[in-house]
Amino acid sequence: MNKIAVYPGSFDPITKGHMDIINRAVFLFDKVIIGVLNNSSKKYWFSLEERVEMIKKIIPTEYKNKIEVKGFRGLLIDFMRNNDASIIIRGLRAVSDYEYELQLALTNKKLADGDIDTIFLPASRETLYLSSSIVKELAMYGGRLEDFVDNAIIEIIKNKVRKVEEVNDEKSKNICSR
Ligand code: ADP
Repeated sequence: MNKIAVYPGSFDPITKGHMDIINRAVFLFDKVIIGVLNNSSKKYWFSLEERVEMIKKIIPTEYKNKIEVKGFRGLLIDFMRNNDASIIIRGLRAVSDYEYELQLALTNKKLADGDIDTIFLPASRETLYLSSSIVKELAMYGGRLEDFVDNAIIEIIKNKVRKVEEVNDEKSKNICSR
C-alpha cells in the first residue's frame, strides 16, 4: 500500500525550516503532498497562489515525482481523504510548539475516527528558531534573507515588502489628510 503523507501549513512564505522537514519526509513516505492552507480567519502576506508557486519553484527536481503541492480550504481531514492520505507530518521546534501541535493531532485523529495519525519531525539545529514570521520581520527591515529562505524566492519576498510598504504609506497619508 502506498503511504501518502500530507505536510499542511501556511508556508507564508516557505522557509529553509519547512524545506528541511520536506527533504526528510520524502525518505519516509511514498508520496508527500504539501497542503497549503487558506484559512479565511487568518491574514496572509502572500495569496494562496503565490505561496503554492513559491513552493513549486524550490522543490528539488529529483523529488518532483514524489512531492505534490496543493492549496486547500476547510478541514484538513477532508483534504486528506480526497487525496487518499493517512499521515499528517508536522515539524516541532521549541517546547512552545508542542501543546498546540498535540491538540491539533488529537483533534484530527478523533475527527477521522482514528484513521489518520500525525508524525512529528523535530526541527534541525540549524533551523530550530526559524519561522515565516521571522522571515517577514527581517524582510521588512531589509535584513539578509539568504540563510533563511531559498535564493529563488528572495526577489518575490522583496517585491511583496515594497507592496506592503506602499499600502502602509497610502494608509498613513489618508490618516494624516483627515
Ligand atoms: P501553521 O500556520 O500551520 O503553523 P506554518 O507554515 O507556520 O503553518 O508551519 C507548518 C508546519 O511546519 C508546522 O508543523 C510548523 O511547526 C513546522 N515548521 C515551521 N517552521 C519550522 C522549522 N523551522 N523547523 C521545523 N518545522 C517547522
